[in-house]
Amino acid sequence: MNVLIVYAHPEPRSLNGSLKEFSVKRLRDAGHAVQVSDLYAMNWKAALDAGDSVAHTTGDRFDPSRASKYAFENGLQSADIAAEQAKLKWADAVILHFPLWWFSMPAIMKGWVERVYAYGLAYGVGEHSDARWGDRYGEGNFAGKRAMLVVTTGGWESHYSPRGINGPIDDLLFPIQHGVLYYPGFDVLPPFVVHRTSRIDEQKYAEVRNALGERLDNLWNTAPIPFRAQNGGDYRIPELTLKDDIAPGREGFGVHVK
Ligand SMILES: Cc1cc2nc3c(=O)[nH]c(=O)nc-3n(C[C@H](O)[C@H](O)[C@H](O)COP(=O)(O)OP(=O)(O)OC[C@H]3O[C@@H](n4cnc5c(N)ncnc54)[C@H](O)[C@@H]3O)c2cc1C
Repeated sequence: MNVLIVYAHPEPRSLNGSLKEFSVKRLRDAGHAVQVSDLYAMNWKAALDAGDSVAHTTGDRFDPSRASKYAFENGLQSADIAAEQAKLKWADAVILHFPLWWFSMPAIMKGWVERVYAYGLAYGVGEHSDARWGDRYGEGNFAGKRAMLVVTTGGWESHYSPRGINGPIDDLLFPIQHGVLYYPGFDVLPPFVVHRTSRIDEQKYAEVRNALGERLDNLWNTAPIPFRAQNGGDYRIPELTLKDDIAPGREGFGVHVK
């Protein structure tokens, strides 16, 4: 299988850097092909702007979605974007590997998503009508591929528990797992989260590595998070609200998981 690791940490000797190296080796030793997009090492341009289309003429009004669609359809995207899209196409599984910074992914990785996820590739796909609202949330160009987050946090596990001060980790990761990954079609595996990183010594590091290794060994047979498919019958279309008999009386992110 082909695995793409998209990795964001500025220091190769960090915990994230060590775990990323470990993942690459573990996957390759198991016979998988691995590519790594090491965003800091690549000096990845994070900000989406008019320069992302090689056809943009200075002075034209820049419409990010329309420019993305036009550039994607006509082979006019900048080379760094097209190269990442080719890796995504190649991959059977994608791992986003990052430290939690301000309750989300580092800006450089958010910029990777914004620029690489072109109109026509990750959104704006499929028929929009009274019966369907595009190929998204369970359908789309990345359907059939798997995705998983590997995330480290400074906070304790309890800080991210259902009544923890930071909010539940599943809620904090919802915009990434349900939005960035499930929306364009990935099957999203439960995240691998390492908490309280400042307390990691050699013994704890060995435990973390073993646990991560097991998750990687089971990348192909771990059950995905059972998000509800948009066009699977649970939602009214085109309102895209849950039907009254689905999770009655419940609200919040959790209702979108079966
Ligand atoms: C801008 C910013 C925003 C942040 N926002 C949040 C937030 O919203 N929520 C939150 O919870 N935290 C937050 N943090 C903390 C952040 O999530 C952690 O600092 C990060 O996850 C630690 O990962 P690291 O790779 O940088 O670890 P490192 O600092 O590199 O390492 C952590 C520990 O692991 C040990 N270690 C590293 N490599 C090895 C190895 N090979 N063998 C044995 N031990 C090793 C180190 O000795 C160290 O003790 C933030 C930090 C920053 C800088």
